Amino acid sequence: MMDQIVGWNVLRILWKGPSFPVRFHKTQLTCCRLFLWIGLLIPPLLPGKAIGAENHTENVVLVTMDGLRIQELFGGIDLKILSSVNQGKPVEESPLYQKYWAPTAEERREKLMPFFWKTLMRDHGSVAGNRTQGSTVLLTNGHRFSYPGYSEILTGQAHDDLIRSNDKIQNPNASVLEFLKDKLELSKNQVAAFASWEVMNWIAEKSPGAITINAGFEPYDHPSPEVQLLNKLQRETGTPWDSVRHDAYTFRFAMAHLRTYKPRVLYLSLGETDDWAHDGRYDRVLQSAEQCDAYFRQLWDYLQSEEQYRGKTSLVITTDHGRGLTGEDWTGHGSKIEGAQYIWMAFVNPDNNLRGEWANAETIYQNQIAATLSSFLGLDFHATHPEAGRPVARVLRK
Ligand SMILES: [Zn+2]
Repeated sequence: MMDQIVGWNVLRILWKGPSFPVRFHKTQLTCCRLFLWIGLLIPPLLPGKAIGAENHTENVVLVTMDGLRIQELFGGIDLKILSSVNQGKPVEESPLYQKYWAPTAEERREKLMPFFWKTLMRDHGSVAGNRTQGSTVLLTNGHRFSYPGYSEILTGQAHDDLIRSNDKIQNPNASVLEFLKDKLELSKNQVAAFASWEVMNWIAEKSPGAITINAGFEPYDHPSPEVQLLNKLQRETGTPWDSVRHDAYTFRFAMAHLRTYKPRVLYLSLGETDDWAHDGRYDRVLQSAEQCDAYFRQLWDYLQSEEQYRGKTSLVITTDHGRGLTGEDWTGHGSKIEGAQYIWMAFVNPDNNLRGEWANAETIYQNQIAATLSSFLGLDFHATHPEAGRPVARVLRK
């Protein structure tokens, strides 16, 4: 109330001069008004000040689902693929059809990822990449496989000449995770990456040991009996793949770290949606996507339950690459596979009002993620990485 009275008096003085008896010389009064106007006008002109005042983000969470196609994210189960894996039998008899089919794309995707669509994107964020609605998200790397994709996400640029394989080679460029750790002067525990794929140990940082990374079948060093049991179990419950563990372990290790160390920057890198696709197991791809959705719900509920995170955390959820479009090539991806260049990108920022799926929007690119994460925290990634993509402006403003 006091503020209101002072505010009204200031405005009245600005318009009319003081109503109470004050013996100002006319020129003194003019000066007084001038200073008040300057005082009111200058703050919005100061770079960073006005933006910082509106920016509530103090933590960022990046989540990736390896190789999940736009077709499943925006349209749920794909009948073309179901037919191709159903060995000539009528698709209607398939348990997958009975579980996930519905007449519209909206209903099908809500069956597959109910939390993502019915809560996260409806009430808290927006998602780009549905080409049937006029929104496209593209890779800028030409390789269309994992290391180049994750590197583009984390360093803000494609390096097709330097990054040409999924080999365990230290990333030659610093990641946005390292950038944020330096800029925010964070401890190693406050910037953490948990990944199902072991190669993330080499992708996520240029300087080995700069940040916390737990990837592949690596045990996570944590005192709780639950984590110690999970460390044993992840060895006993192998996967068909040598370098990728089950997402169940990755997710629970990440949550244990979140609860214990309260990181300001967390990267959760889930892998099974890609590996089951390579194996032609469409049933497991859908099951993994649905399971990831359940993880998103748990992650979100935790973030809302904690003072440090509630209303102060921005998220980007995306994928490293797309994959083939047809019943013949959906299992693969790569530079020659049409469709693998198309990805999707979801954003949750407490300072942004955009909701649901983007329609008739500008095309955005994978190389914009690093700068967008930085901008959520009020930092300019582009200033020190001029070759990197710019922040996605649409999700930064009110
Ligand atoms: Zn793959």
